[in-house]
Amino acid sequence: MSRTGKVFAQAIATNHYSDRPEPAGFEFALPYGGSPTQNAQDNWRFCRKCQAMFFNGYPNKGACPAGGTHKAAGYNFVLPHDVSPTSITQEEWRFCGKCQVMFYNGYDNTGACAAGGSHEGAGYNFVLPHYP
Ligand SMILES: [Zn+2]
Ligand SMILES: [Zn+2]
Repeated sequence: MSRTGKVFAQAIATNHYSDRPEPAGFEFALPYGGSPTQNAQDNWRFCRKCQAMFFNGYPNKGACPAGGTHKAAGYNFVLPHDVSPTSITQEEWRFCGKCQVMFYNGYDNTGACAAGGSHEGAGYNFVLPHYP
């Protein structure tokens, strides 16, 4: 059964917002527990060490800013991508191909990456639902 988890932007990509406001201050309502579709990818998990959301679908879990690699905890989120944004969704959320976290790509500075340098967007353009 598909459900929705209340998630704060800061929890999606922690460690990247200490020096700037969250994207428009949204409180996200992310679906979890459902099945993946052509426009929704599963295997998105929170890291219990750094609290960032990361993609857990690869054997390599990605560099964690808390040391070692990310460790999955909690729900299996199924996140919409490559759909048209609406008044209650925000686009420009991307997977970092270097450290595997979800980060907001709407700023010039994409934030420090645990794998070195800044985050680099790869793959889908996620469009995340939030509360109005
Ligand atoms: Zn981590
Ligand atoms: Zn990164």
